This record gives sequence, C-alpha cells and structure tokens, in this order.
Amino acid sequence: MKKPIIAVDVDDVLAKSAQGFADFSNAMWGHSLTADDFDEDWMKVWGTDLAETRRRAEIFHNDEVFSGFGHFPEAISVLVDLKQRYKLVVATSRRTVVEGVTRQWLDTHYGGIFDGVFFTGIYDVPGDTGERHRDRLTRTKNDLLLELKADYLIDDQLKHCFATGEHGVEAILFGNYPWSRHRELPAHVTRCRDWAEVEAYFAKRG
Ligand SMILES: [Mg+2]
Repeated sequence: MKKPIIAVDVDDVLAKSAQGFADFSNAMWGHSLTADDFDEDWMKVWGTDLAETRRRAEIFHNDEVFSGFGHFPEAISVLVDLKQRYKLVVATSRRTVVEGVTRQWLDTHYGGIFDGVFFTGIYDVPGDTGERHRDRLTRTKNDLLLELKADYLIDDQLKHCFATGEHGVEAILFGNYPWSRHRELPAHVTRCRDWAEVEAYFAKRG
C-alpha cells in the first residue's frame, strides 16, 4: 500500500530559524531581538524601509548564516518512527539561493529521513513580475503540496495550514509561537506545540 505523504516545513519546524534571525540581526545591526519578536514581515521586525530591508535580506541569505541554525534534536526519533508508516518530504518557501546550504543542513541534522526536498521559489524574485518568473511567483506552498499530493502538512505558519486544509490536506500547526499562539483553528488544522505532540497526533492515527 502506498504510504501517505507528510510534508514538513523547515523554518521553525525543523530549524530554529527565528532564533537564528534574531541572533544575526543583533550581532549585525545592533538589535536586541528575541525569537519571539520574529515576524515574516522583516521590515516590521527591523523597522527598516523597503530598500534597506531588501539590502539586509541579501546579507542574511548567506550560507554561513543558514548553516549555523539550530535544529530540534527531539524531532529525530519522532521522524524516524513516522518514516516507517509515512513518506516524509520537506516543503519550504526558502529562497532557492540557499537551496544548497539547506540540503546540506538537512543532511547534517536529519540525514536519511526525507525522500525529497522541495522549494516553492516564491520569494526568489521580489518585485519582479516578469513573464519568465510568473510560474514560480505564483506557486504557493499550497500549490506545491497539491503537486506532491501530500496528505499532511507540518508547518508553523497559519496561512499555509489554513490554505492547505481547504484542499483536503490535514494540517498540523507546529509550535508555541507568538505568530500563531492565540488563533482559533478550523477543523482541518490541529495545533501541536512541540514534537512530542506531533508524535501523539500521529499515534492516534495508527
Ligand atoms: Mg516555517
């Protein structure tokens, strides 16, 4: 029988990226951010204008920075166990400029677990709506999951969990983060605050 597919997000699900973002911002630009200050809107977090935000984002998207992100050691045994019953793939909206370092980082910390690593490429060309990029720009994580025929998504971002849930994908809203903590969830989205709760969620499904 074909194994159901679980798509797993990278940032703040497999990688402690908000912490990495805060640490780098503090060291580089003198902020005093914590992981809890993180928001996908970096302009808001840094208090910068669009041009400066783009300039900083270029500096941040660096192999050395991304290779230094922490991981979730407690996720490994959960994923190894799930791999027996599910096909595990990675689905990320990270820019493809960090694709190489992301693949290496996953090999280092989660080697042998995932059957594929997929990038939406949606953030690759900010502000460029040229024809040659149109397909990539319009491919959301939801589009990617439908292409992959994923049955489950584990992701910390509400927008992805809400969007995929509407298309029959069971979404696990991961983490106990300020950006999702106090939100009501629809029926197809289940909150799992940590990897132990993810384990318990799938244990109930057999
Ligand atoms: Mg994420």
